Amino acid sequence: MNVHADPAERHEALRQQVREFACAEIAPRIAEMEATGGVDHEVPALIAKQGWIAVTVGAEHGGMNAGHLAKTLVIEELSRVSGAMGAMAQASMLGAAKIIHFGSGEQQRTWLPRVADGSCLPTIAVTEPGSGGHVLGMASTARRRGREYVLTGRKVYVGNSHIGDLHGVVVRTGRGSKGLSAFLVEADRPGFSLAPHRPSMGLHGFSFGEITLDQCRIPASNLIGEHGDGLAVAYSSSVLYGRPNLTAVALGIHQAIMDETVRFVQERERYGGPLADLPTIRQRVGAMQSRLMAARTVAYDAVHRLDQGLPCDPELMNAKYVNVEAVLDTARTAMEIHAAAGLQKDRPLERLVRDAFHIYAPAGTGDIQLHRLAEEALGTSRGQWSQRLLPAPVA
Ligand SMILES: Cc1cc2nc3c(=O)[nH]c(=O)nc-3n(C[C@H](O)[C@H](O)[C@H](O)COP(=O)(O)OP(=O)(O)OC[C@H]3O[C@@H](n4cnc5c(N)ncnc54)[C@H](O)[C@@H]3O)c2cc1C
Repeated sequence: MNVHADPAERHEALRQQVREFACAEIAPRIAEMEATGGVDHEVPALIAKQGWIAVTVGAEHGGMNAGHLAKTLVIEELSRVSGAMGAMAQASMLGAAKIIHFGSGEQQRTWLPRVADGSCLPTIAVTEPGSGGHVLGMASTARRRGREYVLTGRKVYVGNSHIGDLHGVVVRTGRGSKGLSAFLVEADRPGFSLAPHRPSMGLHGFSFGEITLDQCRIPASNLIGEHGDGLAVAYSSSVLYGRPNLTAVALGIHQAIMDETVRFVQERERYGGPLADLPTIRQRVGAMQSRLMAARTVAYDAVHRLDQGLPCDPELMNAKYVNVEAVLDTARTAMEIHAAAGLQKDRPLERLVRDAFHIYAPAGTGDIQLHRLAEEALGTSRGQWSQRLLPAPVA
């Protein structure tokens, strides 16, 4: 990337680069990912090698230092071709967040260059079978034993569970909201294991599975941040990375549904002309276009504010809410326009619709975003992560 070009040119060049890569390297492999429903290892390795997982990592650690709008463009363009690979990339960008914000100098020097060169895919593991949105309900524990911690418990729906090298695990080390701590757990530690991959409705090729910690011993130096910082690690990662990342996946899938529907209404003939000539179809396409444009504006505005160092937690939450609602509405409209053809597996639409449903739960369901937005409106919110962990403005 030409670091001397103005930001708009840099962003456009990056978008083109990712788009060309996705069309050349990912698109031809989608049929196989869909057919097997397994975990893809090859494409994630290719993506990681591009350096894009480290798009917000500082140049001193080999990262792109390109900021959050650039991150959105990378995820959006990958997701436009493959929601699964967009979800994969964002999951490890999210995994890197805690090292960027809370990692010690040594942890940053050890891990961030490996994220940048593609040799390490980090994750974040917060969710448990008994605690999803209710983060404080988690039951996994870490106990100090001399120079080590011993971790025990189960984490579920961990993005990149089956390809991750370095898991960021948040567990209980005490009571209450100060009783959570975060640790780095390398995937080859004794006591760490993976449950077999369970294929899901969509995002075929991506893994968001279960990890088990059975008396898993790690050095005390693997603690991330301070003892008791676990909730801050979980919440800040989710707000500053999780929300905008999933927003970008939704946006990419949304654009793909739009592309596919426009192609369909121009090609399909009814009443002696293309479907696009029917007034009701045009109204629906217009409504889809309006939703897509509004969703994109909200998405880009939120991350632009983050890049400017402005407080923007509500914007990041709203962007996730608006983009997920918008893509699900558009998915339904697109299915109605396609009618029976939309159900066919030899068309991309049914895959895109299945993938879109996966974006609702991660980084806070719609209910959680509305809950937080209500706190903002009512003046009861307890501060903003974008203010507390203000990133340096990106030129
Ligand atoms: C594709 C994908 C990737 C994921 N990646 C990760 C990851 O990398 N790391 C990780 O730790 N987890 C990950 N998750 C898990 C995700 O964070 C959880 O699914 C999410 O927190 C919701 O938890 P849950 O599914 O258990 O639902 P629950 O929290 O049990 O919610 C069930 C229902 O109750 C509602 N609800 C819950 N709490 C409230 C409330 N306070 N007010 C109003 N309504 C409420 C919800 O909106 C929902 O309708 C991922 C999930 C998916 C699908």
